[in-house]
Amino acid sequence: MTEMNYAGYIDFSSIEWPDHTSSVLFFRGCKAGCFYCYNKHILAGDNYVSLDVIKDKINGSKPFVEAIVMSGGECTEQPDALYELLKYTKSIGLKTGLYTNGCNPDIIFVLLKENLIDMISLDIKATWENYPSLTAIKDTSSIKKSLSLCIMASRTNKLEYFNVNTTVFKSNLSDIFGIDLYLPSDINQTITKGIIKPESGECVSDEEFMYAIKEYTDPYILTRPVTVKMANQIHKYFPCSDAAM
Ligand code: SF4
Repeated sequence: MTEMNYAGYIDFSSIEWPDHTSSVLFFRGCKAGCFYCYNKHILAGDNYVSLDVIKDKINGSKPFVEAIVMSGGECTEQPDALYELLKYTKSIGLKTGLYTNGCNPDIIFVLLKENLIDMISLDIKATWENYPSLTAIKDTSSIKKSLSLCIMASRTNKLEYFNVNTTVFKSNLSDIFGIDLYLPSDINQTITKGIIKPESGECVSDEEFMYAIKEYTDPYILTRPVTVKMANQIHKYFPCSDAAM
């Protein structure tokens, strides 16, 4: 493999991985078909770039960041390029992160087995039965498998950081209570208020969102650390404590 279907590169970010600086590499293409995708412009098309060019970018980032985060699109849809770039990133002493929809657990398995990833942020977009109403994903068994792999890797310290991310709209706001049942108490969770054109009818108001979050993060029933994102605000909630900024 000498090329990847490339979508873009951000030199510096401090938001992809808590307490870490990173560059972000975007892979073109994703088959998940989420109705709300923010990156629709990179879901299809071809823009093949030599991996040597990408490695030069990564090397150029090295003095300024701690990690390279692979994002997209869905990077696990280009497994050979992903593998080679992760291996290169580790070889020059940088940490690695992966944003994924979890549709390719076999790839995640190999990357974990070979210690090529330090951080994973996995999307759980809805309750399993609600996936078909938000996405083109009809069978969620692969995502369940990815979730299990990541939980196991997190518990055995193969992953330095693991986070489950859910972006909410009207169609899945109440799903946060169902998703809660899939997640053990020892992992991190992020819930983001989704932004989409008002005419879609899918926008949740700030009041609706915060009402649901208030119920979900009740300190007496909350079991794990939860980060809540709404526009430019980030709130962190912890079990058995009041909400804190
Ligand atoms: S998984 Fe991510 S990149 Fe793919 S369609 Fe959904 S939101 Fe877009």
